[in-house]
Amino acid sequence: MLNIVIFGKPGAGKGTQAEFLKSKYNLTHISTGDLFRHHIVNKTSLGLKVTSILENGDLVPDKLTIEILENEVKKHKKTNGFIFDGFPRTINQAKKLDEFLKFLSMKISFTIALEAEDEILLLRLLKRGETSGRSDDTDKEKILNRFKEYTDKTFPLKEFYSKQNKFFSINGVGDIKVISKRLISIIENK
Ligand code: ADP
Repeated sequence: MLNIVIFGKPGAGKGTQAEFLKSKYNLTHISTGDLFRHHIVNKTSLGLKVTSILENGDLVPDKLTIEILENEVKKHKKTNGFIFDGFPRTINQAKKLDEFLKFLSMKISFTIALEAEDEILLLRLLKRGETSGRSDDTDKEKILNRFKEYTDKTFPLKEFYSKQNKFFSINGVGDIKVISKRLISIIENK
């Protein structure tokens, strides 16, 4: 099984590249952000709980996030593997993911971070906000808060996965196809 975690600050291109990897390697793509947005649109009780959290660009509490992730993984018993997009975002989530996968006799193969400067990401997000309908993409303060959440809580995962020899990073700036090629070269040289 190929189980890949894609890291990157908001706007780094995780979703785009995850969709590419999904079709190239026939994997199951799980985006926790998409799952939350689905609940919000459908006004489920979970959706109502997390609406203002996503709007402000804060992280959803680990307990809710881990639960939604585990339920989604359990739905795909016959997959070739998973692309985790937007999960884990905290050390606690990463530890829980390791335990959960071990319980299922699975493991993370490796993690890849898409790197880009904040100024570039900010411009990408504001542009996306013109059409995405995502309120967290239209307000500069909220975007900066998401960057801060990443730096404070997600960035430490670099060390967590480096210790397991599972952390790689690539330049996330450039043509989308060129970035996909950078990803392939990591995956196929492993
Ligand atoms: P982006 O990476 O562009 O911020 P996502 O769709 O991955 O977009 O996430 C959107 C929002 O969903 C986050 O700002 C956060 O509120 C929530 N979220 C997604 N994944 C997680 C997670 N693993 N832990 C906590 N909150 C999450």
